[in-house]
Amino acid sequence: LGSIGSESKPRIVLMGLRRSGKSSISKVVFHKLSPNETLFLESTSKVVKDDISNSSFVQFQIWDFPGQIDFFDPAFDSDHIFGGCGALIFVIDAQDDYRDALVRLHQTVTRAYQVNQSIKFEVFIHKVDGLTDDRKIEAQRDIHQHATEDLSDAGLEGIHLSFYLTSIYDHSIFEAFSRVVQKLIPQLPTLENLLNILISNSGIEKAFLFDVVSKIYIATDSSPVDMQSYELCCDMIDVVIDVSCIYGLRDDVDGTAYDQHSLSIIRLNNGTILYLREVNRFLALVCLLREDVFERQGLIEYNFHCFREAIQEVFDIRRKAMMATPSSASA
Ligand code: GDP
Repeated sequence: LGSIGSESKPRIVLMGLRRSGKSSISKVVFHKLSPNETLFLESTSKVVKDDISNSSFVQFQIWDFPGQIDFFDPAFDSDHIFGGCGALIFVIDAQDDYRDALVRLHQTVTRAYQVNQSIKFEVFIHKVDGLTDDRKIEAQRDIHQHATEDLSDAGLEGIHLSFYLTSIYDHSIFEAFSRVVQKLIPQLPTLENLLNILISNSGIEKAFLFDVVSKIYIATDSSPVDMQSYELCCDMIDVVIDVSCIYGLRDDVDGTAYDQHSLSIIRLNNGTILYLREVNRFLALVCLLREDVFERQGLIEYNFHCFREAIQEVFDIRRKAMMATPSSASA
């Protein structure tokens, strides 16, 4: 399945004031930059179309507000930007005075809503690594209150904003991105259902369907997610990709570090097995299971093949449906 059409991929736009952390977020999530390296990034001063659509399940763009972008400026084509956009992430630097950011948030949300009422509005209260737990809660409460008050003062109670506490120095940014992306996947209930069937028939404890490049999980089974398991699975992806890059590529073949043969099993000394397997060009299944269950590896392999076929069907049906309906982008 190399062909999840770009029209059926979740489209995300990242906005916020200059220095709020947008390019750092995109570099850390989509380009494997380590958080410390973002200290030397040049600040974004214009629109950056970060084209990751060839390597990721997710499509996204960054828009910056260096102060001079004006929504009423004809150069800023709101219809184009907001029209086809699934989610708008607005990044607020929580370590800074955020009054200006709140004003920008309000302007951005109201303009975007005029163009596209089905947009999901996501607010990342960012750089919270520098804040104590009390200050995090306080910042979230304060920002939430001001932002929703501004909207209701403008008679726009109908607009819903979601808030996330994020930092590039831990997994919170990946977790927040995962929740944003999941809202945009119409097949989510089906994917969850398939994962539930897979784990209950195989004795697996937890299973995630990952976008390999970004380590965003686009679905998981319905048992609760604990951050430790999620982090463990993220780390496994890094290990597998790194080992493949170092030892798996042959100079004479045009290969990639991740392909249809990608499979890895890691046995931890506490009796847990980590199991990673390619599902399609973008997605991998990563599971946690007990060592004794893994004695029935044949069963797991068989169930996995059924699972992979079902996933392909899910996206194929969607793609065909998208091709059958004419573009609905007209404003
Ligand atoms: P942009 O102008 O919105 O693209 O902002 P940048 O990505 O250039 O980030 C501005 C500064 O914020 C950089 O020095 C980053 O290292 C820093 N930064 C970004 N994210 C975080 C974070 O989660 N925590 C902390 N402490 N600093 C961050």
